[in-house]
Amino acid sequence: MRKKQFKAESKKLLDMMINSIYTHKEIFLRELISNASDAMDKLYFKSLTDDTVGMKKEDFCIRIDLDKENRTITITDNGIGMTEEELEQNLGTIAKSGSSQFKNENETNSDVEIIGQFGVGFYSAFMVSDFVTVQSRAFGAAQGYVWSAAGIDGYTVEPCEKDTVGTIITLHIKPSTDQEDYDTFLEPYKISSLVKKYSDYIRYPIKMEMETSRPVEGKDGEYETVKELKTLNSMVPLWRKNKSEITDEEYNRFYTEKFYDFEPPAKVIHSKTEGQVTYDALLFIPKHAPFDFYSKDYEKGLQLYSSGVLIMDKCADLLPDCFSFVKGLVDSADLSLNISREVLQHDYQLKLIAKNLEKKIKSELEKMLKNERETYEEFYKAFGVQLKYGMYENYGEKKDLLKDLVLFVSSTDKKLTTLSEYVSRMKEDQKSIYYACGETVDKIDMLPQADAVKDKGYEILYLTDNVDEFCLKALMDYDGKNFINICADELDIASQDEKKTLEEENEKYKDLLDFLKTSIGDGVTAVRFTNKLKKHPACLSSEGGISAQMEKVLNAMPNDNKIKAEIVLEINDAHPIAKKLQTMFETDKDRTADYAKILYDQARLISGMPVENPAEFAQLVCNLML
Ligand code: ADP
Repeated sequence: MRKKQFKAESKKLLDMMINSIYTHKEIFLRELISNASDAMDKLYFKSLTDDTVGMKKEDFCIRIDLDKENRTITITDNGIGMTEEELEQNLGTIAKSGSSQFKNENETNSDVEIIGQFGVGFYSAFMVSDFVTVQSRAFGAAQGYVWSAAGIDGYTVEPCEKDTVGTIITLHIKPSTDQEDYDTFLEPYKISSLVKKYSDYIRYPIKMEMETSRPVEGKDGEYETVKELKTLNSMVPLWRKNKSEITDEEYNRFYTEKFYDFEPPAKVIHSKTEGQVTYDALLFIPKHAPFDFYSKDYEKGLQLYSSGVLIMDKCADLLPDCFSFVKGLVDSADLSLNISREVLQHDYQLKLIAKNLEKKIKSELEKMLKNERETYEEFYKAFGVQLKYGMYENYGEKKDLLKDLVLFVSSTDKKLTTLSEYVSRMKEDQKSIYYACGETVDKIDMLPQADAVKDKGYEILYLTDNVDEFCLKALMDYDGKNFINICADELDIASQDEKKTLEEENEKYKDLLDFLKTSIGDGVTAVRFTNKLKKHPACLSSEGGISAQMEKVLNAMPNDNKIKAEIVLEINDAHPIAKKLQTMFETDKDRTADYAKILYDQARLISGMPVENPAEFAQLVCNLML
């Protein structure tokens, strides 16, 4: 028997294929099972029009046998088989896909769902084996043939005994090396887990003998180990079923098992889309954030299936960062996969799917917000920060997508509110949306600046997360209303007369105010009288775009360029302390300077900042007592 050579370019390709196309050696099993499934699809398809096939759908089956002693894995199918020529053509020429040809010939029939398309998958067998035989008998042929090859040196095809139609592929597994554990592929649990991982939704049963232990009849407490032929795959993908046939329980079980969560999801999104690109999507919004969600280790992404076969475990391109918490999968027969089926060839279809999913997720979250407020708030507690980051990231690219999904605590009832709810409650004369930043709701509630705004009957949004203010800055306005930080921006609630009086007062006491500023030092850029305070004597405000909160957040980042907010000490012009300062400045400059420092330190404490020199502060207060 003359050994035939692989075509020269094929040799090179084969070598490349075995050594570099696939990143995971374990996918050889997925490829061979997909081929077997294709072969059975072809014969099943034939049986619909040809009575001589004599097989029903339930007769088709893939069997895997492991032989540890002889180091072989055997994969048997009762599909359409290959003739001598087909063995030559399909397995002797790389990149010749019989399946792709079959697909083209049967393009109009939507029942055929063939997985193979490149004619290289079979060769992945050589990643784990040093010798491969393919015994096959084609439907309608009387004689079987066996193709065999030991790697890339060449192959032989010769007649063989084969009673039934179909194909038996036997892989002789390579010996393990220091770098690679090939022995693992001879372990039943490994093979069954690989089938579960990649081929769970192959539509024919994949069977293998597995050892199980069972009680011995008649002998109490004794167990025996027996071999049982088990079906390893679940066959019907949940997402292919009709929504009306799936119970909540089934969805929940699928989610908790597949995505390792102990709680059912907050929301299930199951959709079938047909059009420019056809796909099924089954998405889940978790109730709580995984422990690593807000760390660098968290990997976003959806599982990507092509016709029920897993292609990628975490396809990041399918999810925008703002929805990185979504779990689930997409299954599409339309994807143009690259040769290893590990990555996608063109990302056009993927982009299209991602765009649709983004819209879908948003509308489902909006529905939840509208109809299941409590569930939404629970969800928001877990993932709200991610949505807010999403608004701010990439120069606010996603701000319009997200602006109606974010919530902030409102001063009125200390409950979460949307921006649109805030706007709907705005007073007739109110032009802006007011907000304040701080560590906690209670601390913000006590800010001196809040009094005047609340007195007017205006609501204030209380921002407690670091990202909050950046998120509003990115949004710039909502429904035409600008945002005003009550500690940083001009409140614009005083009348013209009030403004004028204040201006005159500041002018009149310019010397005093300059003196106070000099006494405090670098901590402030100016000291001024204000009419916006009610009971508090003084407060700190910032000017020039960077608020004190932003300064704190930005400077906490690893960055050498430290930023400084321009802080102004504002003194309540109606407070007795203002009068006191005005008179004391004439008589006792030293004491006036001490008062300035105390007022400044107190204002820092109230706005949630530490006192710069606690020892000096304590001494100054002590002096007052003596
Ligand atoms: P692909 O599956 O991408 O077409 P493969 O290299 O895996 O490429 O297989 C090449 C061809 O060999 C297939 O298209 C198919 O025609 C044939 N083939 C492979 N395995 C089998 C099998 N188990 N039964 C019948 N034909 C097969």
